[in-house]
Amino acid sequence: MSAFAFKGILKEKTPCGRKPMGYSPFDSAVSPPLTLREMHSLVASEFYVEASMFEFDVPIFIVHLRDSSKEAFEHLVHKMKPYGLMPFLRRRAGRTVIQVFPKPQRKPGRGGRLPLILFLVTFGTIFASGYFNSVSWAELFGEDVFIHSLYFTAALLGIVGLHELGHKTLSMRRGLEATVPYFIPGPPFPIGFGTFGAVIMQKEPPINRDQLFELGISGPLTGFAVTLVVAYLSLQTAHLVDEAFLKQLEAQGAFLLEMPPSLAWLLLSSLVNPEAPLGYVALVPPIGLAAWLGFVITFLNLLPIWQLDGGHIANAMFGEKGHRVASMAGMLIAFATGFWFFGLLILFLMAQGRGIGPLDEVSPLSPKKKVLGVLAYVILALSAVILW
Ligand SMILES: [Zn+2]
Repeated sequence: MSAFAFKGILKEKTPCGRKPMGYSPFDSAVSPPLTLREMHSLVASEFYVEASMFEFDVPIFIVHLRDSSKEAFEHLVHKMKPYGLMPFLRRRAGRTVIQVFPKPQRKPGRGGRLPLILFLVTFGTIFASGYFNSVSWAELFGEDVFIHSLYFTAALLGIVGLHELGHKTLSMRRGLEATVPYFIPGPPFPIGFGTFGAVIMQKEPPINRDQLFELGISGPLTGFAVTLVVAYLSLQTAHLVDEAFLKQLEAQGAFLLEMPPSLAWLLLSSLVNPEAPLGYVALVPPIGLAAWLGFVITFLNLLPIWQLDGGHIANAMFGEKGHRVASMAGMLIAFATGFWFFGLLILFLMAQGRGIGPLDEVSPLSPKKKVLGVLAYVILALSAVILW
């Protein structure tokens, strides 16, 4: 997932919200880096400015939109960046306004070695999960447990890591500052799976709905592609086992894991292993669990909730109000599919803050992205897993 982490004004109500009297977005000790007139000329280089004024110390410009306002606003963002200023394009009482706020300060000295430590710990917990998940398989087929543990580790780290790399690469290409991925270790198998995924923090808000959409979809799209590869490999290396032998194994207490499949898994399985001979069952190797988790991660991240990847997509596609409705629908899906723990966790996180939308909330999402958005919902459906 990719969450927004800003300090200062952006954590409060949207910049359109009313500010208390005496509120100043600019540090009282430091005056704005540009005068209102200087800001006016910057805004006027991209928009027709009807009026400019201060409102509770916030410079505000009433502007007229042109056909290419999306691009014009993007230019303005880049022009204001060197001054540490951040414009917001909003509709207010039938008017189009640009408000200018100081760019949120970066938290100094954060990060450091923490991402590396988290990665190493997560590597360890995933490897341990891979090991405990591979013991039965290795004994059964006389294969190397460490090799299977490594495969599992590479597969799961690859799915989670490349999902995050998708977000990171997109952020870099769009010039939006983001942290490196923070892996979240979890209890090893069979209590957990060694990780709760990873997260990168966006340090700058996306400029418009297009960027918000891209930020949201880049991770799940990459993660889903890697998951398909892992699923394909695990299905390809499946072992056919006699059903009677399987029953005998189970009676002897062999640990065989049966997970509820996603639609993507069923489809892929019918392609790779069209039909097992009568009386035989295809057993997938331990990386099958990594593929299953990959689908679960993609599914949960694509739910249109809050600041999850799917939440960014929904916000970009349906606007703020639509996003709120989609969030509720997403929560219902999470609970209905049996991910109640995840649902409760997200409810708790939602109470901490609702995040923000793009700087330009006026320009619509481009039609091409809307088409891609439909693909996101197809992937959501393909990856969905029902736990009961
Ligand atoms: Zn993501």
